[in-house]
Amino acid sequence: MDTKTREWAANFAQFIVDSPSCYHAAASVAKRLDAAGFRRQEESETWDATPGGHYIVRDGAVLAYWIPQGATPKTPFRVVGVHTDSPGLKLKPHPDATTPEGFKHLGVEVYGGPLFNSWLDRDLELAGRVTTRDGRVLLARTGAIMRVPQLAIHLDRTVNNEGLKLSAQKHLHPIWGINSEGDFLSFLADKLGLDNASEIVGYDLITVDAQAPNFLGAQGELMAGGRMDNLVGTYAGLVAMEELVANGGPTDGAICVLAAFDHEEVGSSTCAGAAGPILEDVLRRTHDALGGTEETFRAVISLSNCMSSDVGHSVHPNYSERHDPDNRPVLGGGPMLKVNAQQRYTTDALGESIWEKALVDAGLKGQVFVSNNDMPCGSTIGPITATRLGLLTFDVGIAILSMHSARELCHVQDLLDLSAVMGTYWHGAAYNGKH
Ligand SMILES: [Zn+2]
Repeated sequence: MDTKTREWAANFAQFIVDSPSCYHAAASVAKRLDAAGFRRQEESETWDATPGGHYIVRDGAVLAYWIPQGATPKTPFRVVGVHTDSPGLKLKPHPDATTPEGFKHLGVEVYGGPLFNSWLDRDLELAGRVTTRDGRVLLARTGAIMRVPQLAIHLDRTVNNEGLKLSAQKHLHPIWGINSEGDFLSFLADKLGLDNASEIVGYDLITVDAQAPNFLGAQGELMAGGRMDNLVGTYAGLVAMEELVANGGPTDGAICVLAAFDHEEVGSSTCAGAAGPILEDVLRRTHDALGGTEETFRAVISLSNCMSSDVGHSVHPNYSERHDPDNRPVLGGGPMLKVNAQQRYTTDALGESIWEKALVDAGLKGQVFVSNNDMPCGSTIGPITATRLGLLTFDVGIAILSMHSARELCHVQDLLDLSAVMGTYWHGAAYNGKH
């Protein structure tokens, strides 16, 4: 592995550490965009569509857009869509409970589709945002404070052969003390420098693995860590956007957009999710500020497109029969196109031609994911974005193992390659000539 790859991967690992929740991820992206000269657009203010980089943050979503010199109501959009949220356990209201033996439990509910077993026996922190009585919104993280302990094998003799069955209500309580003083919100208030728990009026807090990513394999080419789904796409898009801007933007004058949505893991139907208006708000308000109308907006959408990037499945070496026999994507095999006849992924022949051109321009070879027909396929923001806006969309990503585990596994070369192909996508036209 060369120095650039190693450095890139180390920076991504730090990005994961700095982004334990979707709100932290949006803040991490915003901080980098500020450093790259992007201007923050408040949605309550008049829209600024002057040339250069801009961004908005809405809840856990962050959308960045680069407007070239000479943009007009005829300038199309080229969108890379990703998401900032990951599956986990969300803190319930009135979270404190104590067992008869004195264990301090926290009440949690399931966010998205985590692999429950992967959350056992890990040192966990809670991270997210808190609202205060004096009207502030604070980012919050506790550091490692708790754990969901697994039942010892002596008390569950059949677990290895018959499988682990976990009730979401009964078996996922994290413990964070025994016979000790204090409630969780008082602890959190103290962490945040607030006088007492009554200053906290609301919170969105989710569990996260407190362990930093690790590099495995002889060359450190395999990366293990939390929230790769989909900080992989978020970080790859961020770096591609930074490089795009450093190089002066695309020569053919498209408006380049990085849309990092929230709430993908719970279906996207929220004000910061892909099924809500957030992307349309950015596209339409930018278009309007450039002098466009409803009519020209629809015309420009017909010339625009979207690369929806999320992680996909590598062939699992221990379960290789679960995958399609002829399409065998693997870790390190390069960026991945995702295809599904039921349109759980949006990719079609037109999208494929845009993807192929971007790959060729980046000097890369890709791979393709399609499900084994006996295994139902997951989905992502691609179909939602296409349906919401009528935007030609195609689904891509990188191959990972252990998707929706508290710690997933990817190949660092794929990260760089995905970022490179996002860059060439923003830079260039496609084989079909239309886009
Ligand atoms: Zn995802």
